[in-house]
Amino acid sequence: MKPAYIALGSNQGEPEIQLRKAVIALSILPMTQLDKVSSVYRSAAVGPGTQPDYLNAVVRLHTELSAIALLDALQEIEREQGRIRTVRWGPRTLDLDLLLYGDETTTTPRLTVPHPRMQKRHFVLYPLCEISSEKLLLPDGTQLGALLQQCSQRGLVKTPCQLPVSPTPQDG
Ligand code: AMP
Repeated sequence: MKPAYIALGSNQGEPEIQLRKAVIALSILPMTQLDKVSSVYRSAAVGPGTQPDYLNAVVRLHTELSAIALLDALQEIEREQGRIRTVRWGPRTLDLDLLLYGDETTTTPRLTVPHPRMQKRHFVLYPLCEISSEKLLLPDGTQLGALLQQCSQRGLVKTPCQLPVSPTPQDG
């Protein structure tokens, strides 16, 4: 089983509901166990124009799926849940990124791991640290704590939203 960290983000439709549904979908992937789920964080969207705030979270899975099979599964969840149904091919309501897959490094046209833009994003690094440790090592030997020192938490707000950690009741 490989540990894999997935970033979740949404700023369209009903972001909290999208994130909850995504966590449930991740928890029932084959050959995979959902291990940890971060808090939900709110931050302003970057980019042109006025956009709603983003909600973001990070989860850790343990999986026997290959990295590319995991990407396939993430994209399937995005397809199933990530679009506003009333507008065909409308804006995505869910973004799932594979941040880390064990200590593997992959660079292919479809998949780059570690995720190329994770290192400067406060909405990825802080929830990632919440469910791991500042001592978490990236494949190149960088400690997560070192990245956090370079990345201000300003503008990132931890919300009271609760995501399901273990959506299947254990005791009926
Ligand atoms: P985006 O719309 O920004 O989520 O980008 C999606 C595209 O990024 C897809 O075509 C993926 O094949 C590609 N991609 C490359 N590396 C990753 C990764 N680590 N996680 C998710 N998507 C990735």
